[in-house]
Amino acid sequence: MASYRNGRGTVKVDRVQPTGSSNLRASSSFKSKNSIVRRSNSSAGFEDSVSGRVRVAVRLRPQNAEEMVADADFADCVELQPEFKRLKLRKNNWDSDTYEFDEVLTESASQKRVYEVVAKPVVESVLDGYNGTVMAYGQTGTGKTFTLGRLGDEDTSARGIMVRAMEDILANISRDSDSVMISYLQLYMETIQDLLNPSNDNIAIVEDPKTGDVSVPAATLVDIRTHQDFMELLRLGEAHRVAANTKLNTESSRSHAILMVHIKRSVTDMESEITSENDHSIHMSRNSKPPVIRKGKLVVVDLAGSERVHKSGSEGHTLEEAKSINLSLSALGKCINALAENSPHVPVRDSKLTRLLKDSFGGTARTSLIVTVGPSPRHRAETSSTILFGQRAMKVENMLKIKEEFDYKSLCRKLETQIDKLIAENERQQKAFEDEIERTAIEAQQRISEAEINYTEALEREKMKCQMDYMESIKKLEEKWMHNQPKRVTNGFSNGNHSADGNNDHANEDVTELKIMLQKEISLRKRAEEEIHSLRNSQFCPTEADANADVVKLQNLLDEETRQKQKLEDEVLMLQSRLSQLSFGSGQSRYSQIDDRGNGETTSIANLHEHVGLQKILSLLESEDPNVRLHAVKVVANLAAEDTNQERIVEAGGLSSLLALLRSRSFDETICRIAAGAIANLAMNEANQELIMGQGGISLLAMTAADAEDPQTLRMVAGAIANLCGNDKLQTRLRSEGGIKALLGMVRSRHPDVLSQVARGVANFAKCESRTSSKGNKNNKSMLIEDGALPWIVQNANNDASIIRRHIELALCHLAQHEVNAKDMVSGGALWELVRISRDCSRDDIRALARRTLTSSQIFSSELRRLRVEI
Ligand code: ADP
Ligand code: MG
Repeated sequence: MASYRNGRGTVKVDRVQPTGSSNLRASSSFKSKNSIVRRSNSSAGFEDSVSGRVRVAVRLRPQNAEEMVADADFADCVELQPEFKRLKLRKNNWDSDTYEFDEVLTESASQKRVYEVVAKPVVESVLDGYNGTVMAYGQTGTGKTFTLGRLGDEDTSARGIMVRAMEDILANISRDSDSVMISYLQLYMETIQDLLNPSNDNIAIVEDPKTGDVSVPAATLVDIRTHQDFMELLRLGEAHRVAANTKLNTESSRSHAILMVHIKRSVTDMESEITSENDHSIHMSRNSKPPVIRKGKLVVVDLAGSERVHKSGSEGHTLEEAKSINLSLSALGKCINALAENSPHVPVRDSKLTRLLKDSFGGTARTSLIVTVGPSPRHRAETSSTILFGQRAMKVENMLKIKEEFDYKSLCRKLETQIDKLIAENERQQKAFEDEIERTAIEAQQRISEAEINYTEALEREKMKCQMDYMESIKKLEEKWMHNQPKRVTNGFSNGNHSADGNNDHANEDVTELKIMLQKEISLRKRAEEEIHSLRNSQFCPTEADANADVVKLQNLLDEETRQKQKLEDEVLMLQSRLSQLSFGSGQSRYSQIDDRGNGETTSIANLHEHVGLQKILSLLESEDPNVRLHAVKVVANLAAEDTNQERIVEAGGLSSLLALLRSRSFDETICRIAAGAIANLAMNEANQELIMGQGGISLLAMTAADAEDPQTLRMVAGAIANLCGNDKLQTRLRSEGGIKALLGMVRSRHPDVLSQVARGVANFAKCESRTSSKGNKNNKSMLIEDGALPWIVQNANNDASIIRRHIELALCHLAQHEVNAKDMVSGGALWELVRISRDCSRDDIRALARRTLTSSQIFSSELRRLRVEI
């Protein structure tokens, strides 16, 4: 840039280097081409520092009406050369001084151009976060207020810098995140008045001791949202200024008007942006950095008229007035001088104006000064003084600093919000996690319980199976045991017991052994049950290892049990085979004692009587010792099972002895049973039957039948009577001695073995009766019917047990042979049974017999006809 001389010194034209092109691009030429000095971050933020000289433009007001008249004969004292940014101040007709400015604005310069050249670069800087000052200096009436404060109500093109600046600001900020606040002050006689609140008329300037920043915190600050807001405030401020000046008896030219615009902008395009709300994965490195805000302050100063400085003494103003009116202006001049001369002392503190403008000259603000001059040669001195002020101001270097700071408050708010969100999310996740744990635990517990139940059930089943198998074995064994005795009743009785004590003892030993094993088995099962119980009662969930160990343990127990079972079964088998050997036959054979198994033991028992002597054995039947009696009767019964022995037994008086046993009232059911079995065997022989009858056997058997409870005893007795029933000659006597009644009485025992013997007896008796009737010997009704057998016969005619059914079917057929029975049979329901037999009986002969009987009987035939039943 061109160098300048201070003070009143002129700048020779030839020394001046033109800086702009002839085609003026005001805004660009006026803009600083400063070098940028970046400084390290301060604690409050970071600053960009740019060196920036105070820019000065000169504006010439057009000649006004008064001047046109008054100065008509004189040439203007100011001549502008805007293309060279020069102003020529005429000294006289032949000499003038030339000054160079940053911008030279002619009297025809539009308000718009003036704004763009002078103020716009400053406004842009303020929006970027710098402080900025636009100030007008000049003699009263030269257009300072015209330049800065015109509202342009009537003519928009007349809008001044303040209005245009605010338009620019509002157009560039964000209504959401940024703010614009203004205060509007007047400085008169070193008193700061609030133009937005006139009652606030002595505002203090406050200086930050650390930063040195100056502020007027007591001034009213109004938030500007719209341009209308601002216009109203400007009008309000102007009205208050007029009122204040009237009150103070002064004029606006004596006071300074100061508009302060505070702009706060948040920097959104920087890294400090918080991540989006939905993104929960916050990168702290990004967020730990607070958002940046930029604070710019624009100060627009409409100074009091500069002529006061110049004329204060010469025009007789009191010292006080001069002081009060011009102190600030002269102090400003002194400061500018000191700054222009790089003087070590700048008297900033001399006035309130210089304190307020501390940042604007020699500070950190971008400053534009517009000096206004009039054309009149009459005010040449003021014009010259103004020009020199501008010239000196051009030498003032400012160090522009960006006012950026971290917005810790908003960062704090954002982080708090974020933390709240995270806390909520954390809580949600924690809850979800706990729920999951609980669900899993319940599931696990359920599985364990299920496994326990399954396991217990399986164990229970296995146990039951073992028990069932075991019971089955025992049952089979018992059946086998029992089988040996009663089977003989049917076809010839033998007592199913051992015939010798030695063998009996042997069997007893086996049984004892079996019992011990049983006991063992039971205790094993008990242990298994205890295991299950403890497993069930276990408070804690067993671990898998525990469960496996338990499984293995129980498996072992089961194995052990199975082994024991096998062993028992083997034992049972062995015992069975031994029992078969000990018994006298398979139970199917009547001659069991001569069963050709070749077993020496059996043979020795069978032939016992040969060694001991039959007589001797029979005599033992009357022994005092019941044990001896028991064994003796067993032997006799066994012998009686064999035809060849029967005769000898009877001859030797065995029958009498056996009957005597029944007669002796010392009732021993076992002896009775065996004796009855022996008698039944003997009763198979026709000769013996008469003997039995002759010796009162029927009444003895009837007595035994009445007393006995044991089905096997009853079976023996019924068998004996049934055998007797088959003898034609004995029928009447059998009946008269109560044989039939005794036989029928035994059906009280519902045991099928007893019933089948009763049925056999009935069938035998009926057969004999039918034989007798066919011979024409008998004309009376059947004694069976007389004795009330018919209902039982009808009732059991279709018995499930085929052997009973067969006997009764035969009995019915035989009864039906005799016409005299027919009526009773019809009324007793026997006819239907006969019809059924004639149709359904599996044996052809019986079916044919039934059919024959039904057709041959008149009564049956007529009844069937009546019922329309076809045979
Ligand atoms: P100051 O504030 O410096 O005392 P004003 O702004 O009040 O001066 O101006 C004084 C008079 O001059 C006003 O009537 C104003 O309209 C007029 N004036 C100032 N500058 C211009 C200009 N550039 N063009 C036209 N009229 C102007
Ligand atoms: Mg003015």
